[in-house]
Amino acid sequence: MSSMQGVILPGDSTVAFGAFPVPRPGCGQVLVKMKASSICGSDIRAIYREHLGKGPEAYQGVIAGHEPCGQIAAVGPGCKQFTEGDRVVIYHIAGCGVCQDCKHGYMISCRSPLRAAYGWQRDGGHADYLLAEENTCVRLPDGLSYVDGALAACGFGTVYEALRRVGLCGADRLLITGLGPVGLAAAMLGRALGAGEIIGTDTAQGRLVLAERLGLLDSVLPADDRSLGKIMDRTGGQGCEVSIDCSGAAAGRLLALQATRQWGRCAFVGEGGEVSFDVSQALIHKQITLYGSWVTSLRHMADLLERLDRWGLHPENTVTHRLPLGEAAEAYRLADKGQDGKICIVFED
Ligand SMILES: [Zn+2]
Ligand SMILES: [Zn+2]
Repeated sequence: MSSMQGVILPGDSTVAFGAFPVPRPGCGQVLVKMKASSICGSDIRAIYREHLGKGPEAYQGVIAGHEPCGQIAAVGPGCKQFTEGDRVVIYHIAGCGVCQDCKHGYMISCRSPLRAAYGWQRDGGHADYLLAEENTCVRLPDGLSYVDGALAACGFGTVYEALRRVGLCGADRLLITGLGPVGLAAAMLGRALGAGEIIGTDTAQGRLVLAERLGLLDSVLPADDRSLGKIMDRTGGQGCEVSIDCSGAAAGRLLALQATRQWGRCAFVGEGGEVSFDVSQALIHKQITLYGSWVTSLRHMADLLERLDRWGLHPENTVTHRLPLGEAAEAYRLADKGQDGKICIVFED
């Protein structure tokens, strides 16, 4: 096959298809046959509706999709780890490889002009093949599916990083504001990391129903002006030791802070927008540690995949819609509605 189909996002809530040459891997690169390529909230917020991203979030008209997972079809000269047939998740940012951030595996934080994210500044996973740097590939354990792997490439990886950073453990109750795919990931991983009681909130009726049905949380609450009181009631008036905002909305962030227990830890991972709060009352006097956490590292992504396999956990359980590449327009329309779980583009063998 010399030509392949790929998806471009023009930025007006439409999806465009194009024909592209199948790339040939150069030195240190691999050609990955795509098997699963899921849609992230950032694709909707910063690319699909309009191209509002700047810097590392600037979309440059490339093939979209930054949650790719597939099987290596060809390797270029000089590859050291992978070979044809290997199943891989692609860490979605190719950094310069030599700065301190890259050397620590946080290619997300690389500030070199050489840095390029798949689906943002270089071709991503919404095509039959993806040209990847070998050093951005992470082996997918045999016990995990390609859809499991795609979900780890951004959303589950981001949540794993944040929950590790706040030190979530069995002594903690966990509050999750925002029960989209990232919030559901927080519930699944929070349980695996030992959280004793998990409470979640969302404004979208469809997502409340889905969260109830999946059974990943102990309490699922509509996000409104009664949420804080209900959370306090459920926690003996104390709040939760750990909270994580996955909503990216001001009200969700504020609720996460307000419902964090004194001396607790709160992480913001939901992107975009702003928030304002009474700093003394919400943060300082409650002795709260607030974390901002952006994506994860190569090392932690590999750790996550190993643990998912060991725990027998499958991120794909949060997927509500699987569509072929030819139905990418419908996939994006569903993701934009924000009432469902994860939407994933899947490829026939
Ligand atoms: Zn993402
Ligand atoms: Zn770098």
